[in-house]
Amino acid sequence: MKNNLSNIKKAIKYLNKNQCVGIPTETVYGLAANAYSSVATAKIFKLKKRPKQNPLIVHYFNLKMLKKDCEINELFLKLYRRYSPGPISYILKLKKNSLISKNVTNKKKTLAVRFPSHPTTRNLLKKLNYPLAAPSANISTKISPVSKKDVKDEFGKKISLILDGGQSKIGVESTIVNLVDKPQILRLGGLPKEEIKKYLNLKINYDKKSKFKSPGQSKTHYSPHIKLRLNIKNPNQNEAFILIRKRKKLNTNYFYLSKNNNLKEAAKNLYKTLRSIKKNKFKSIAVEKIPNEGFGEVINDRLKRASNFK
Ligand code: AMP
Ligand code: MG
Repeated sequence: MKNNLSNIKKAIKYLNKNQCVGIPTETVYGLAANAYSSVATAKIFKLKKRPKQNPLIVHYFNLKMLKKDCEINELFLKLYRRYSPGPISYILKLKKNSLISKNVTNKKKTLAVRFPSHPTTRNLLKKLNYPLAAPSANISTKISPVSKKDVKDEFGKKISLILDGGQSKIGVESTIVNLVDKPQILRLGGLPKEEIKKYLNLKINYDKKSKFKSPGQSKTHYSPHIKLRLNIKNPNQNEAFILIRKRKKLNTNYFYLSKNNNLKEAAKNLYKTLRSIKKNKFKSIAVEKIPNEGFGEVINDRLKRASNFK
């Protein structure tokens, strides 16, 4: 069932009462709460079992709302005008008089912000007088959700409402760009880094060792909590085998990410596929070699982290 206005009204009612609500975005589904409330944001950490030192991304409707909380600069404006609303998050300087809860930033002086493009969530944000802190709606270190059903599988009755926005169009998390001090990419994601580099005509590197700057970039993450092996040509018997592209002959343990080698489509299907492998109770996953370019690089980043699960 898709959302109508009455569901959005319900969401507002719960959010105003400092409750968490599941929201659809074009990247993945989020677990949202009032970013100005310490009571509400504490609930996100508790539900997700998320370490307190891992700060949250805050979702805004527009620049006017953002300016209450962050200092903005030229580079930000340039990217904002081109790519927002969309799958890019910016790290900006937090204003001293900002109302953002300390839980959100883990007392950092910077804030991660995003403008999601999903119409349902934009509609919701437009009607609120506070921004929404919203990390992915999954238990910490596990696979991000890309549908209402996935969120339900994660939290069951622990959350009162999940807005339905269909399957997430991009299906992987946002690209995070640090715009405080030297511009840098902290997380690969839904907006390919080559595109940002080309547009800015600027040397802007992906900081692979960004764990310190972006604590969520931990070694084990995005994992179905099943053993996973990369760059495999021949899988073992009874092992789920993830293919980048459909084959003529598909064994029952074969799962393909894209019909014809389209890496963007493959990224969109990645978490859905991992979830269905988990549901089918496989004990081990093998993945064929995936080209390390564009969305392929993002898929490899997520699978590499998932493969650290022991
Ligand atoms: P999630 O919302 O779960 O997809 O993850 C949010 C990501 O943003 C994590 O990797 C966080 O560490 C990162 N993040 C949030 N706030 C900041 C910040 N102020 N500086 C750097 N990284 C941040
Ligand atoms: Mg997450």
